[in-house]
Formats: sequence, C-alpha cells, structure tokens
Amino acid sequence: MKAVVLEAQDALTVKDVPDATAAKGKALIRVSGTGICATDVKILTGGIPVTYPLIMGHEIVGELIDGGGKNGAKPGDPVLVDPVLTCGKCYYCQHGQANLCPVGGLIGRDQDGGFAEYVSVPSSNVYPLPDSIDLTAAPMIQVLTTCHHAHERAAIQPGEAAVITGLGVTGQMNIQLAKAAGASPVIGISRTASKRDLALELGADIVASHGEEALKVTREATDGRGADVIIESVGALAVLGETMDLARIGGRIVPFGIYTGTQAEMPFYQFYFKELSILNARAAFARDFPASIDLVASGKVRLEPLLSHALPIERADEAIHMLMEPGSDRMKVVLTY
Ligand SMILES: [Zn+2]
Ligand SMILES: [Zn+2]
Repeated sequence: MKAVVLEAQDALTVKDVPDATAAKGKALIRVSGTGICATDVKILTGGIPVTYPLIMGHEIVGELIDGGGKNGAKPGDPVLVDPVLTCGKCYYCQHGQANLCPVGGLIGRDQDGGFAEYVSVPSSNVYPLPDSIDLTAAPMIQVLTTCHHAHERAAIQPGEAAVITGLGVTGQMNIQLAKAAGASPVIGISRTASKRDLALELGADIVASHGEEALKVTREATDGRGADVIIESVGALAVLGETMDLARIGGRIVPFGIYTGTQAEMPFYQFYFKELSILNARAAFARDFPASIDLVASGKVRLEPLLSHALPIERADEAIHMLMEPGSDRMKVVLTY
C-alpha cells in the first residue's frame, strides 16, 4: 500500500509499504481521508518525540473492510476512527477519566496511523458514519470531539455571553457549539477578516479583532460586565492573558488552545479578583464520538465551510508544510486517497 512514512525528524517520504492487516480484535479500514493538524507538525519537527519509522495521521475516515466495529459498524460502512488508545485498567480509566490515561496513546503518534491506504485500529475505536455526512470533511469530526469535550467542561447555559478567541478550525467549531448550547450573544474574536465573516455565517452574533476592539464589543454586549465564558482557541499565552480581561467577575475560561510557552505577562491579579474558573480540557471521551457525529448529521455543526484544501497523498509533504505558514487564511487541510 502507498503510505506517507516519517523516516526521521523532518524526513517524510511517500512510498510502498506492506499492507496493514487486521489482527484479532482489530478492524481494517480502507482510508478515504485523513486530516492534518498542529500535532502532526509537532511530530514531523520533533517537538513531539516518536519512534521512527512512523505513519502519522490521527483524524481518520474510511471504509470498514474487516473486523466489525463494536459500535455497530459493518464491513462496507463509512467509518470514523477514535484515535485515543486507553488501557482500561488504570485508576483514570476506572474512574471516568479515560482521556487522561497515562499509559494510553494516540494512533498516528504511538502506532501507525491514517496517512496510508489502509490502517488497522482496535474495533472499539471505530464508529459508523451516516451516509448524509460528506466524507471529505468528515475527518474533522475527530477535531470536533475535542471541542465537544471542552464544551462539556464549559457547561454553557442558555443566555450566557460566550466569547471565542481565535477563529481557525476549532474556533469555528466552538462558535457553532456555543450557539447550539444557547449562548447569547456569541462573540468571535480574530485578527483575520475572512475568518470573522465565516464566524458570522456559522452563528456568531458579533465579531471583532483582538485587543481594544474585543474588549469594547464584549463590554457593550454585556452591560459592561464582561463575558460569562470564554473559550480560547488560539493557543498563544498573550491571548490567554486577554481572556482574563474579557471575562466577567466570576467568569469561566477554557484554555482550549495548547500552550507550549512557559513565560508570559498576564493580568494574574484578575485570577483572584475576578475569582475566575480555569477549566482545562484534554482530548475527548469515547462518548464524544457518537455525540459529535449526531451534531454534524443534524446540521447543528457545519464542517464543509472549514475545509480549505483536500490534497492527494502524494502531496503530503506540501500539505503538512501549508500548516507551517504563519498568518495564512488556510483552514483545514485533508489528505485524500
Ligand atoms: Zn489533530
Ligand atoms: Zn488507563
């Protein structure tokens, strides 16, 4: 089968490798599309250490070939893969926090993933997709599961003012989930005009750029109080600091972007004075998969507008490098087979 193989740091080649096969308890999937995200970039560039050679790819959609899914998928069905591997035995797995399993792993990081024509994954990690869902955009449902988990943590109540900072792929999903939860108003913050326009199309009531403009519109929309809840979807410490200014006294902040920086100036006094709740969200639960599939099937969350590039597997190197261009208005990039 044709696969994109990471042979060493920054060394990606497309080549023929032996076909993936399904062992006992595993499903075999003919991959139709795999999304690329910042995690893949960090694996490529060595920021996330892995064992070489590795076939990356954790946002996987395809056709189930063999080894029926435990969640009702039959051979021939279009399916989505939950890439999170858990042990099922540790303290966290036994206490409803399997997303935090310390001996778990990720398909496409700790074992071969979806940048290939075929992939083998545990049967319990396979979910059937309804025919109504567009398969090219469907790898983004894995991304949506992580947003869905974050929203469970945020617990937005109808009528609450929600701010989403950052309007990339996850920011636009967070806009749609906040709207579906009944947040009002939903305020989207981005420096990029095209992303603000898309957020308005997908359910944002108000949009603004970062800084003074964000503070002004948020105050105006909340009788001067500030937002009840903010979901930070950029992953930059400076923006995390901004959320503390945008939150009302007693507000909640979900630092959804992943922060690798260790030093920043922040209005730390606000932590105390506003009695802010900081709610982190890591990965997703198995139950977030059927819930996210339903959100897309029902049209509450639209994925097609978030897909900007679908490139054939042969152009994998070019595709992943698109994610490394700063300030681009690119949205989701998916590899197709
Ligand atoms: Zn990803
Ligand atoms: Zn575990």
